Amino acid sequence: MPLSTLCLHCGMCCDGTLFTQVPLQPNESGALTRLGLPLTTREDGGTVLPQPCAALEGRRCTAYLERPEACRRYRCQLLNALAEGEVSLDEAKGVVDAAHARVEAVARALASPQGGPAPMRQARAAASTLPPEAREALTQAEAFLDRHFRGRFRRSG
Ligand code: SF4
Ligand code: SF4
Repeated sequence: MPLSTLCLHCGMCCDGTLFTQVPLQPNESGALTRLGLPLTTREDGGTVLPQPCAALEGRRCTAYLERPEACRRYRCQLLNALAEGEVSLDEAKGVVDAAHARVEAVARALASPQGGPAPMRQARAAASTLPPEAREALTQAEAFLDRHFRGRFRRSG
C-alpha cells in the first residue's frame, strides 16, 4: 500500500494547514523559480517557499520531481505511524478526515466562505483578536494537528 495514498487524501503539510513555509537550500531556488513558483526571503536572508504552496493542485504536488529537500524528507507523525504499521490506512484516513473537520470548524467560526488552508492562516494571524468561538475552534484544531501530525517533528514555520 503506497504511503502516497494517505498524502493524496490529506495535503495538509503543503496547503498551509500545518505550516506557513518550506525552508529552501541555496541551490533549490532556481528550479522552483523556473517552474513559476513564488519564493520569499526571510528576515535572516533564507529563501522559503510560502504555503499554501503554489505547486499544489487539489492535494497533488505538481513540482514533485523538483520538490525541495525539506519536502522530500518530511513525514508527519501520522504517516510515520502508517509506515510502521501502527495504524491502518483506513484509520489514518479517519484521522485526516477529523483534522479536515476541525479546520472547517475554524472556517465556519470565521464565517469564511470555504474550508481549507486560508482560514487557518487567517485565524493564526488574528489569534489575539478572534471572537471566543473562533479562538476555541483554532485552539482545538491546533491541538489536534500537534497531537496527530506535527508531534515531535514540528518543522519551523
Ligand atoms: S501531513 Fe502527513 S499525511 Fe498529510 S500530506 Fe503531509 S505527510 Fe502526508
Ligand atoms: S513543493 Fe510539493 S511537496 Fe513541497 S510544499 Fe509544495 S506541493 Fe508540497
